[in-house]
Amino acid sequence: MAEDPRGNAAPSQGGPPGYRPAWVEIDVGAIRHNCAVLHRLCAPSALCVVVKADGYGHGAEPVARAALDGGASWLAVALVEEGAALRAAGLECPILVLSEPPPSAMADLVALRLTPTAYTRAGVTALAQAAEAAHTVVDVHVKVDTGMHRVGADPADVPEVVGAVVGAAHLTFAGLWTHFAVADGTDREDREFTTAQLRRFADVSATLAGAGLRAPLLHAANSAGAMCHPEARLDMVRCGIAAYGLAPAAGLAPEVVSQLRPAMSLRARVSMVRGLETGERPSYGRRHPLPEPSVVATVPIGYADGVPRRAFDTEIPVLVGGRPRPLAGVVTMDQILVDCGPDPEVRPGDEVVLLGTQGDARIGAWDWATRLGTIAYEVVCDIGPRVPRVTVDSGRLAGRGSEGDERG
Ligand SMILES: *Cc1c(COP(=O)(O)O)cnc(C)c1O
Repeated sequence: MAEDPRGNAAPSQGGPPGYRPAWVEIDVGAIRHNCAVLHRLCAPSALCVVVKADGYGHGAEPVARAALDGGASWLAVALVEEGAALRAAGLECPILVLSEPPPSAMADLVALRLTPTAYTRAGVTALAQAAEAAHTVVDVHVKVDTGMHRVGADPADVPEVVGAVVGAAHLTFAGLWTHFAVADGTDREDREFTTAQLRRFADVSATLAGAGLRAPLLHAANSAGAMCHPEARLDMVRCGIAAYGLAPAAGLAPEVVSQLRPAMSLRARVSMVRGLETGERPSYGRRHPLPEPSVVATVPIGYADGVPRRAFDTEIPVLVGGRPRPLAGVVTMDQILVDCGPDPEVRPGDEVVLLGTQGDARIGAWDWATRLGTIAYEVVCDIGPRVPRVTVDSGRLAGRGSEGDERG
């Protein structure tokens, strides 16, 4: 087939498994490095890395392995199903389930040797029955609601819940924990609220200790707590977002965040280019006239993949040829259109970076989040399962013997 002047007949090259050149690149070297940074920062507290929601969209299994290599000793998940997937992948470390599972999940939870969180009498009873039926003893972490008001036992009810755990022959009281609502807040009110949550937690812990029910493991801090509230590190920190190399809030704790490396990039290749005249209006709705004659590149990734449709209105750029370029029209389900300006250099097969680095240019999850009025957590979690995940290891590529072995 003859190539047209813009090379549109050329097949795409390189990239991910599958036919469509669009992929998420996960740098497990970055995860390992970030965990090593957090582990050092919080020592002697243990590091639990939160890999719920498929590792915040990064892929739970590669993240889990890299986290353990970087110094994590625990993993945490939201669901029994997520813990089951990690066990099926061969991960043998302690895995904490962050909410009390429904009674119907307890038998599987016990068989999978997951560590349950409990905060109701009914939950403890269901756990005790499942543990007894399996002829095993299960470690239980009891969660206290100190102000987040999502899940957890009221402080006043904790002694009763813990008493039920201790009274069950097949359960062990192994941990007591809580969760912060505004650990990422920097104003005085937020900092005082976190301090108050921690004080309530210490009071509950002291009351239990007074009754001879000392919890072997106390934990409270998420990433923001671990970074901004050293007194909250206790025996273990539960870090999610920071392990992925992202700040819990834009601009938070720059002295720590500057040491972290974002692990996710979102990349694709140009599938088609065409030259359009001033005033042409690409994409659905014909929303925006081109201000000058332009090369418009089609890139096969869209809102069904987690590129928000609002990316056009909120002027989120993409990188082509090492430069940020605006979208030429609204994001469609499977494809975007990029205004590359009067630049004749753009060709099918050229790499496009939606999140990550190209040359000296970088677009981060917080750049999207700030424009979209959300948080980086939602940006990375929204990159959908239709986009294949490709694992790379910057530690092995670049920093052999340094980045690759940071526990030493
Ligand atoms: C998700 C979650 C975390 C991790 O929070 P990050 O802000 O991502 O560090 C910790 N603890 C609980 C209970 C969570 O639900």
